Amino acid sequence: MTRHISDLPKAVDSGDDLAARTGGKRLAIFLDYDGTLTPIVARPEWAVMDPKMREVVRDLSKRCTVCIVSGRDRPDVEGIVQIEGLIYAGSHGFDIASPDGRSIQREEGAEFYPLLEEIKARLHRELDPIEGSQIEPKKASVAVHYRNIAEAERPKVKELVDDILAKNSQLKVTPGKMVYEIQPKLDWDKGKAVLYLLEALDLTGPDVLPMYFGDDHTDEHAFEALKTKDGLNVFVGDPTDPEVAGRTTAADYLCHNQDEVAELLSMLGT
Ligand SMILES: [Mg+2]
Repeated sequence: MTRHISDLPKAVDSGDDLAARTGGKRLAIFLDYDGTLTPIVARPEWAVMDPKMREVVRDLSKRCTVCIVSGRDRPDVEGIVQIEGLIYAGSHGFDIASPDGRSIQREEGAEFYPLLEEIKARLHRELDPIEGSQIEPKKASVAVHYRNIAEAERPKVKELVDDILAKNSQLKVTPGKMVYEIQPKLDWDKGKAVLYLLEALDLTGPDVLPMYFGDDHTDEHAFEALKTKDGLNVFVGDPTDPEVAGRTTAADYLCHNQDEVAELLSMLGT
């Protein structure tokens, strides 16, 4: 079941309902990074986590399993989160590892890396002359950010992405917030990654409550996946934001911003 984001109950006002769902359970908490733990900013490298949020996530990780599931490359997100003891799934779950050596190495789509290199080179050739274009170097995908490109120039980006897809049937594009993410067409996404992690971490019993926090289209895969596990999903975003308004979601609750995420996370697992 999906609902309009504006119809979701606000998580921080639903303490009793949440306590009833989470009480007595072992929590497995999955967190997206950009737009969830940090506000969306003009350039991905500026998305720095507030020290208060880092403290909250670090405390939470002492009480329950915490996994970061990000579209960023895994080393990038590990370096920017800087909390030991978390599990990191990078590249939308294409690259999963646990820093403490627990056996959760998984790398999907490595055979596509040379093709992605070619695509990156073409994107640079054709988009670098357009002011504001940003091609984010990633391992298992190529992200083309157009947030800082003048509106009149944006159709050129779409045309190029469409042409790349037309010529490479083994690739797909996942739309995000002002970004086209060109990925291998594999049956693997954040939802599959989350289900894989629950199995790999032995978190499948009825005593476990998985929770996912996310803000973007790719997070909906994880929301849908956790619905099959009686999980609890939290959408992060302002329903009046033009990038959010009118969208539907498989989430159960809403956090309007990172302050509310921090407040909710600090309530969990206590
Ligand atoms: Mg996000």
